[in-house]
Amino acid sequence: MFDEQQYDVVVIGGGISGLSAAIRLSGAGKKVLLLEAQTDLGGKIRTSNIMGVTVEEGPDELITGYKKFDEMLKLTDTYNNLISPETSNFLIYSRNRLRKFPESLVTGVPSFNLKDIREFVTSGLLSPKAYFRVMIEPLIKLNKLESDISIKDLFEKKFGSEFTRNVVDPLFGGIMGADVSIISSRSYIPYIYRIVEQKKSVSLYFSRRRTNQHFGISSTPTGLNGIVQSFKKYAEGIGVKIVTGHAVDSISNNNGSWIVMVGSIGIKCKRVLLAVPSYIAAKLVHNVDKGLESLLSSIKYSEITVINSVYTADSVKLHGKFSGFLVPSYSGYKLRGCTLMSRKWGYAHMEDHELVRCFITRDSGKSEEYYIQQTAKELIQMGVTKGVPQKSQVKIWDAALPIYTVGHAELIQKINQTIPSNMYLAGASYNGVGIASSGISGIEAAERILSIN
Ligand SMILES: Cc1cc2nc3c(=O)[nH]c(=O)nc-3n(C[C@H](O)[C@H](O)[C@H](O)COP(=O)(O)OP(=O)(O)OC[C@H]3O[C@@H](n4cnc5c(N)ncnc54)[C@H](O)[C@@H]3O)c2cc1C
Repeated sequence: MFDEQQYDVVVIGGGISGLSAAIRLSGAGKKVLLLEAQTDLGGKIRTSNIMGVTVEEGPDELITGYKKFDEMLKLTDTYNNLISPETSNFLIYSRNRLRKFPESLVTGVPSFNLKDIREFVTSGLLSPKAYFRVMIEPLIKLNKLESDISIKDLFEKKFGSEFTRNVVDPLFGGIMGADVSIISSRSYIPYIYRIVEQKKSVSLYFSRRRTNQHFGISSTPTGLNGIVQSFKKYAEGIGVKIVTGHAVDSISNNNGSWIVMVGSIGIKCKRVLLAVPSYIAAKLVHNVDKGLESLLSSIKYSEITVINSVYTADSVKLHGKFSGFLVPSYSGYKLRGCTLMSRKWGYAHMEDHELVRCFITRDSGKSEEYYIQQTAKELIQMGVTKGVPQKSQVKIWDAALPIYTVGHAELIQKINQTIPSNMYLAGASYNGVGIASSGISGIEAAERILSIN
């Protein structure tokens, strides 16, 4: 299993952050071992198959446009293979029905360009009074932000409660599987927080400059696992030793070196990089530093259930080129979002059938059958489908996405001050939850290691 038991760096975790770190390190000449607990690499990226069609049980979108991660995609020969969605327009459930989500609102902030105002005001997302409240945002001066505040507080103060409830809650909270009243605006939407911090109008800022302009949505012809496979092939090609199906049990320090324990085998390395979710990193550092363990275990994760269902094409009543829809938590529905995968992605096209992927709020203790039935029932109530799906598959994520609660940035600062030298952290738990941000955190951790040698 392990040819040798001594490495320059042991990377623990073969998700996108661990793979990116291992590639960067090995490319710079380090002898790297990557250890993954599961039999497959990829972590949250989990592409599978239902009735012969490719389905995503975890993420389905890679956001391109982040320079460091784009470079990694190019290096691994992934970039040229990327595909774009066939449609990215989506709907939102608001005021008792599904309505088109204005394109200009995708950052969460209304733009005051004439064309955008027209689209927003005619969308029917808000009551006339709430539209008025949004429009006066440039006049709302907040006191200087002394510290982090929640997304809910920030938007309520700037744009009013109805906008926050109907737009911000499903857009940020729904996707994260968490309540916007606890999510940090400073860590989760820093591009908005910074403008408010400078006491400027967010709408006017976004009217001049749309921050999403250079970002794109992508996947590969075989789904997101295509990225994992290209990274794996490239990593092995440059000499990364990858061992899957073996979980690391603990780490300890031995005269300035780390001993990484996998069962009864101890692997010695100068540096160890933990590219696992924070609650797992916490357990791994138990013998190293209890203070660090406690800081890491204070980062909470959301629970998300994903249901992929195949319907006959004539059972789907929603027409038009929409990639799916979002549902706010106040609606009374358990559904939080739905992607019409066979309309969005070329790889999910089906003859006479549609692949529908839903996110539904976790109800602890409920069976997979419950989630299938509840989803099918709510899709009918919302006028999206008629009848039952031909086949469904459920993936329950007990720890789906890290929740960056208010004060997250200070917590990360403390973690960075506490972590011993020669130990590094990477992954979604710290500075960005998406695939690209997680990859970048792996690359940057690798660069910190390289900078001291
Ligand atoms: C349902 C869902 C939908 C999402 N949608 C999107 C999306 O559309 N776009 C987007 O950009 N992001 C999305 N995300 C977020 C994104 O997928 C993740 O944040 C990102 O992939 C995390 O990568 P990571 O490397 O940090 O961690 P992970 O993918 O969690 O990888 C960590 C790895 O460590 C391994 N491991 C754990 N313990 C041990 C151990 N003891 N020893 C060895 N290995 C261990 C795990 O098996 C895993 O492979 C979504 C996430 C979920 C759950």
